[in-house]
Amino acid sequence: MIRVSIGTASVLGLCRIPMAAAPTTAYLMVGGRCVMNCAFCAQGRESQSSNGSLSRISWPEFPLDKVCIQLRKAERQGKLDRCCIQVTAERDSYQQAIRVVKEIRRTTPLPLSIALLPADISQVAELIESGVDRVGIGLDAASERLFRECKGPHWDHMLSIIEKAAERFPGLASVHLIVGLGESEREMLARMLWVHDLGHGIGLFAFTPVRGTALAERPQPALAQYRRVQAARWLITQHGARLAHCAFNGRGALTGIDLVGWRDALANGEAFRTVGCPGCNRPFYNERPGGTMYNYPRALTAVEARQCIQEMGLESADACLLP
Ligand code: SF4
Repeated sequence: MIRVSIGTASVLGLCRIPMAAAPTTAYLMVGGRCVMNCAFCAQGRESQSSNGSLSRISWPEFPLDKVCIQLRKAERQGKLDRCCIQVTAERDSYQQAIRVVKEIRRTTPLPLSIALLPADISQVAELIESGVDRVGIGLDAASERLFRECKGPHWDHMLSIIEKAAERFPGLASVHLIVGLGESEREMLARMLWVHDLGHGIGLFAFTPVRGTALAERPQPALAQYRRVQAARWLITQHGARLAHCAFNGRGALTGIDLVGWRDALANGEAFRTVGCPGCNRPFYNERPGGTMYNYPRALTAVEARQCIQEMGLESADACLLP
């Protein structure tokens, strides 16, 4: 058996739910209650959330062979661009994940990602040898202080794995970062630059409170904050922006961008779409249908893109350059 996100199950024809946007990546989950205790995670060791949830999504179980057959069908019908296996740190979840990777690889050529906390670089190597083409590494926190508060003591270990992955497997990893754990925008931009300079992709998430977790009462990040981080990620990865192009106030919030044509660079709306591995759109992972749209799971209209730029709150950007 394997857990399948409810939206994925619907795309695979395993259940029927109404969906405002369908996932273009099939999301599967391996492992149960985690030995880690991330304060925001429904699968954390001390979380009181249901065993079958992650973020705000439910993950019913289905037989693996049936899921593989449906993956192959959906891939042939052009409904999916990728499959992603989310792995919790349960005792033998890594070995289970290897088995699932091999089974999927035997059945379908769908590009395959795996999101996990690797114990060491040899696990990343084994996953790639087994048929994974991208690895998502959940650093999550922008700073060591927040990592210790929300995840635990292994900050140096995580940074070392991310650096080794850049050396050995350039371009094959996405580093997941969560906006809204308590970091400043300056800290998040600095962390994104570090990830980008290593050659990794950035998977950006908006913190989402989940009932039963330690951070259940923390609000989601302000939309303006999230939009500024999304815009900064786009300008860093596509237009060479550096911290020197950004002005911040005393609290570390972005108050201005000194990069010629930055508004035009955002006008196609790409900055505000879900980011991570190619084809990953994670619909409603951080959003309620009809609620605040942190990550658009599809291309934006010109009107939506203009609205997102306004939501950054840098209306008179040139006048904003002084903190
Ligand atoms: S970016 Fe998306 S597809 Fe890639 S590892 Fe993260 S969740 Fe999976």
